[in-house]
Amino acid sequence: MNKKMKLLAETHTHTIACSHAYNSISEMLERAKQLGLELIAITDHAPSIPDAPHEYHFLNLKALPRKIDGIYVLQGAEVNIIDSEGNLDLPEMVLARLDLVITSFHEAALSEEISEDYTEAYINVLKNPYVDIIGHCGTPEFPFDIDKVLNEAKKQDKIIEINNHSFATRKGSLENCLKIAKRCAELGVKIVISTDAHSIYEMARTEVAQELVKRAGVSEDLIMNLTAEKFISYLCKRKGFKRSRFESEEPFGLPTLDVFNK
Ligand SMILES: [Zn+2]
Ligand SMILES: [Zn+2]
Repeated sequence: MNKKMKLLAETHTHTIACSHAYNSISEMLERAKQLGLELIAITDHAPSIPDAPHEYHFLNLKALPRKIDGIYVLQGAEVNIIDSEGNLDLPEMVLARLDLVITSFHEAALSEEISEDYTEAYINVLKNPYVDIIGHCGTPEFPFDIDKVLNEAKKQDKIIEINNHSFATRKGSLENCLKIAKRCAELGVKIVISTDAHSIYEMARTEVAQELVKRAGVSEDLIMNLTAEKFISYLCKRKGFKRSRFESEEPFGLPTLDVFNK
């Protein structure tokens, strides 16, 4: 593996749709261009987080083109796992429309006290066909049986996220993530290295996560966000999306002059 990887696809970012993030989609995109990125996924928090946008935010993402100034803009969400059955806080009808679904545990969004073991919840979530990525699972507050969950991830061809943001905000994540990443390497489970950027200044900052993945011995073929092509191909293959879905430079649903000919 090279000394410093170039990760051309940002798979986890937040915008001013949540009040605890600080830049607009246009600003994020401008920064992505400066950084030479090929893809940015907009994955704002789903509604159970107190300052998250309403469900309508996710339904109306179609107002955005999927390709802006040559950069792929994926329409996603960071959805909350709310109970041990693996229920999520966006309805299936919304999840089905999104390009990318990350699912994470956040204390504020849990609807019930799950026992100390979050294994069952993760396994149920992994079985959900709309879910692509398990977000920041190295958080020590949500312990789980690593082998059981990673084996299910492998079976379902899902991705485990190594989240750079966690190493500043979620104490104890470093040791846990190293353990998880090592098992991903051994079992051949796919990963992404994400920023979870809440401002433009956090974009492309993945130094700690990269070093951790290197120390864990994860091979490059398992890192799914090295290029836009690799990430989009994964989504198309697993979710049955057409490649053309990601090439539209117009908002979906914009009327054309053809309406006069009907
Ligand atoms: Zn999160
Ligand atoms: Zn996040």
